[in-house]
Amino acid sequence: MAVKKQNSAFVSEIFSSVQGEGIHIGRRQLFVRFCECHRNCLYCDTPLKRTETVAVEREPGSGVFKQVKNPVSVQRLLTVLEKMNGPNFAHDDLFITGGEPLLQAGFLETFLPQARLRLDLPVHLETSGDLPEEFRRVSEWIDHVLMDIKLPSVTGEQDAWEEHRAFLDLIEAEEIGSTIKLVVSTDTSEPDLIEAAELIHASGTQSAVVLQPMTAASKTDRVPTARQVLTWQAQMAVALGRSVRVIPQCHKMMGLL
Ligand code: SF4
Repeated sequence: MAVKKQNSAFVSEIFSSVQGEGIHIGRRQLFVRFCECHRNCLYCDTPLKRTETVAVEREPGSGVFKQVKNPVSVQRLLTVLEKMNGPNFAHDDLFITGGEPLLQAGFLETFLPQARLRLDLPVHLETSGDLPEEFRRVSEWIDHVLMDIKLPSVTGEQDAWEEHRAFLDLIEAEEIGSTIKLVVSTDTSEPDLIEAAELIHASGTQSAVVLQPMTAASKTDRVPTARQVLTWQAQMAVALGRSVRVIPQCHKMMGLL
């Protein structure tokens, strides 16, 4: 059965900043943050519902925004991004984030092929990594995936091991560059870390694996100590038999979005 494509989407923010997570840290990127998420992680710091308007940065990096009505059409979004990626700005990538952008995969199917042509930027996707069928619909236009593996002891939610397994299999089958990110808090359990390591190992992926210490958020302050994170890094590295990195959210240290 043909899946319906969508010509408009609910977006919460469009802005220019530096990447603060994962192995592409420091790259200048154009960010499109989509509304809504199907999860409710304890440490989440983004609005999870649809917003009436999208905040569009007036000048790239200015931090000054105007409000544009939602939903936003493909053409409107492309026009905004082309303007922000004009001759005076050299962005490295287009970064698609949320919320969970794959909830609007029907829009991404229409938007991403045109965005690649008109912006001429690699497309990076940040995702919770548990919607493999939605990812399959857009994967051909994605250059890099920043994929979460959600540890139930940290999110306070049900595990998604099977969904993560299917997602990793797709990344491997389609040879898409990826980073696997695990947020850790004081609640991180060793069995969860071992389960995640086994999942990554079994998939055969050589993706970079990053432990991201939780940043204090509005809903929780269970920030792990540096010593705890070093212990978990060693456990994961031994279980995987390769390097595991520790990278905090650097954009927040700079006071950026
Ligand atoms: S998956 Fe991401 S956006 Fe969704 S609730 Fe968790 S942290 Fe928030």
